[in-house]
Amino acid sequence: MNRLKKINIAIIGSVFLLFSACVSTKPVAMNKITFADNSVVAHRGAWKKNGFSENSIASLKHAIELKCTGSEFDVRMTADDSLVINHDPHYNNLEIEKTTYANLIKFKLSNGEKLPTLREYIKAGIENNTSTRLVCEIKPSEISKERGQIIATKVVQLFQKLNAEHLVAFISFDYDILKKIKEINPTVSTQYLNGDKTPEQLKIDGINGADYRFFVFKNHPEWIESAKKNNITLNAWTVNETADMDWLLANNFDFITTNEPELLFERIAQFKASYKDYKLVWADEFNYSGLPDSTKWNYDIGGHGWGNNEKQFYLEKSLENSFVKDGKLHISALKKTYENMEYTSARLTTYDRFLIQYGKIEVLAKLPEGKGTWPAIWMLPETIRTDEEEWPLCGEIDIMEHVGKDQNMVHVSLHSELYNHIQNTQVTHFERLADVSKDFHLYGIEWTTDSIKFYIDNNLFYEAIKGENGKVATNEGWPFEKPYYLILNLAIGGNWGGEIDDTIFPSEMQVDYVRIYQSKINEN
Ligand code: MG
Repeated sequence: MNRLKKINIAIIGSVFLLFSACVSTKPVAMNKITFADNSVVAHRGAWKKNGFSENSIASLKHAIELKCTGSEFDVRMTADDSLVINHDPHYNNLEIEKTTYANLIKFKLSNGEKLPTLREYIKAGIENNTSTRLVCEIKPSEISKERGQIIATKVVQLFQKLNAEHLVAFISFDYDILKKIKEINPTVSTQYLNGDKTPEQLKIDGINGADYRFFVFKNHPEWIESAKKNNITLNAWTVNETADMDWLLANNFDFITTNEPELLFERIAQFKASYKDYKLVWADEFNYSGLPDSTKWNYDIGGHGWGNNEKQFYLEKSLENSFVKDGKLHISALKKTYENMEYTSARLTTYDRFLIQYGKIEVLAKLPEGKGTWPAIWMLPETIRTDEEEWPLCGEIDIMEHVGKDQNMVHVSLHSELYNHIQNTQVTHFERLADVSKDFHLYGIEWTTDSIKFYIDNNLFYEAIKGENGKVATNEGWPFEKPYYLILNLAIGGNWGGEIDDTIFPSEMQVDYVRIYQSKINEN
């Protein structure tokens, strides 16, 4: 009897082995994957618009249909070691880690689906998928740190077993879970969620991405730059508002995790459309070091106060006043007597190098802080240099002005013979932004034959229209139909800059890039 029983067990055992072998070696229908060239990661799948359950297979399939570059989901482990997909530690008031799989699946998801297992989820994620990453969040165990490590190991092994490692990016709040994953498979992609590590630290620890709550990047704008420098991917969650999406798009994030993938696709289309009618005709990305490129930049020189009683002397080719370093142009004002002035600074222009009439001009800049500073990004026409016209008849376009005595208040203005600041009739708009001296902001204009739109971070800030509100539309009132050149300078004191705090020096404006686009429409 014992012998017979043993044989039965042996048969059952080999059948089981055979079955396991079939599962592990069974070729899964593999599609060629080229991850979609967008930044859209559907948070818990694309569920919201169609009323699917979060983390359901339906929400994953819809994210794949939308061609999101990623679809995120959360993995937990049941009391009997089944890996299931659920965000919260509880499912229908049952604590997942302390409940068996059989007891959990007695309850359906709100869309009628069974609570998916990780195996089912991966299989659904492979099917008909040619462009969507599976962004797999491994939830730490609430029972023990060790159990978290076991869950991580099992999850990675299952992806391996189902030949789906090339599809997955692992994310977790638990740094040790990510380190464990790297130990098992150093080539698989990992992103950290908790927001308390610098990109440099992630790089040292072999973690591939910073997937942080949106406001972490707002508080640490320098991490955006250092992530790019260190090849750390940037992902922000959970981004559902238009303005936040636009900010992340302008900052060129690799991934944006959202409950509103459809809205994000719209914003991306809009973002692309704002460049589609333009071609880049002139740029300085400041990817060199030393003096500003002399083929692109000229200097205005001197200490005559420039009509505003300013207190600086602008120097030419002075490495301490204008230099390119670490990918940025620095325009630096110093407390240093030069001739009859108490401060030195620089005023760079594209005069004699590049002129533009109509188009899109963008300057990504960080402004100095402190009383007395007066940085400006602005334009004057060629006619003032050739003595054909004097100011203000010639016209002036101020893309950005800021005075340190009124921190974060950004001004844009147009000046003409009839409407100018001397008479206090200039066309102007100002608003207070957050952190202009901490963050780089994109200051730009879109200039056409009959309007100038001012943008900050690609958001419309102000639009001036030729002849609006009964204004004169000839050269006296709209002198913006001639070639202009760009000026970047940091003035100190003067009629507007005012009282100077001498403790702030050296004080500098930094410029990440200048890009000038010609409109394809206005091309003849
Ligand atoms: Mg999650």
